[in-house]
Amino acid sequence: MIFAVVRQVLSQLILEAPASSRWRLARAGELIRANTKRTLTDGQALSRLRRALLRWAAKRGRHDLPWRQSRDAYRVWISEIMLQQTTVVAVIPYFERFLARFPTLAALAEADEHEVLRLWAGLGYYSRARNLHVAARQVVQDHAGTVPSDVATLTTLPGIGRYTAGAIASFAYDRRAPIVEANTQRVYARLMALREPLESTTARNAIWSLAERAVPAKSPGAFNEALMDLGATTCVPTTPRCDECPVTSSCQAFRDGLQNEIPTPRVRPEPTAVRQAMIAVQRGRRYLLRKSPAGERWAGLWEFLRVPVDRDGESVSLPSIERAVATLCGLAVEANSDGFELRHTVTRFRIRLHCTTARYVSGTTNGPAEYRWAQVDEFGSFAFSMPARRFADRLAN
Ligand code: SF4
Repeated sequence: MIFAVVRQVLSQLILEAPASSRWRLARAGELIRANTKRTLTDGQALSRLRRALLRWAAKRGRHDLPWRQSRDAYRVWISEIMLQQTTVVAVIPYFERFLARFPTLAALAEADEHEVLRLWAGLGYYSRARNLHVAARQVVQDHAGTVPSDVATLTTLPGIGRYTAGAIASFAYDRRAPIVEANTQRVYARLMALREPLESTTARNAIWSLAERAVPAKSPGAFNEALMDLGATTCVPTTPRCDECPVTSSCQAFRDGLQNEIPTPRVRPEPTAVRQAMIAVQRGRRYLLRKSPAGERWAGLWEFLRVPVDRDGESVSLPSIERAVATLCGLAVEANSDGFELRHTVTRFRIRLHCTTARYVSGTTNGPAEYRWAQVDEFGSFAFSMPARRFADRLAN
């Protein structure tokens, strides 16, 4: 607080001083800023931060999360991959189902990819599941089935970056490895009063550098978890609860009164609108399913036929749907006018899907994709994309 007041007085002096003296006053301001930012560069300050954080976490940490009930590296790995871009609440049921089906790394490595995707269906970002599966096989083949404990080896596995490697090394093996993910990144940025946007290289380097210095040799996993928990429960994105925070004395943003302005909000690119149609072609009691091939959105997952559409005023043109189906897979169909619209957002895409049924007329499927005819009561055994699952549920009902 005192530094903030001194800085404010200096700024005023600089504005009012004659030009010849301004540079001296400006230099004094730089030195004061440097002094205040030095708080987390000396060993004692870092020790204070660690002690306060670990004391707080002992009482207030999220000890009941299912993946914290054991230090098993395989469980830590699964949870960290699932938690990427996904909330804790959404992950818990998936984590429990996945571990019930694949209780060991060997079980996952032996599984069929389709089964892995089926258990992942609904979590999104399916490349995570595919990479996890490939990496599990690699661990069996190259590391005798034991998840590596050092960051360098972990990052050679598909889908494991610096953060996930640090999490596995520190949580499962108590190795001194830093982590930076959404929560810790925000806390570190506020501790340093970092004004640069978090996605900038300068900010990323500064945060990783502080994370490397801050993580202690003793109990690094507990420290990293405590920092994540502080970010998740107290140093939250909007209106951090500084009055409940154990590290206010180490926090530059708090001292400067900038906790609500840091991190600098990121400039998000405009979302891209996508319009498509999804057609459930019906032949007797069965519907045609298509497995999206590599390179397509939702690759490896099953869907009904998904095609681009023209818009005919406010209604989707049925002839254009029929033409698109013929182009996609060679079938002649008669589209029904019973359509409804599904909206789905994935990464930066806002997808509007016109869902409709169509009657099979003639032809056999062709093209590189895999096709199956399935009855409604067989849908449960398919790993569907999220929109296809919603459409399938509607057909079933
Ligand atoms: Fe976050 Fe406030 Fe704690 Fe600083 S004092 S770490 S801004 S909660």
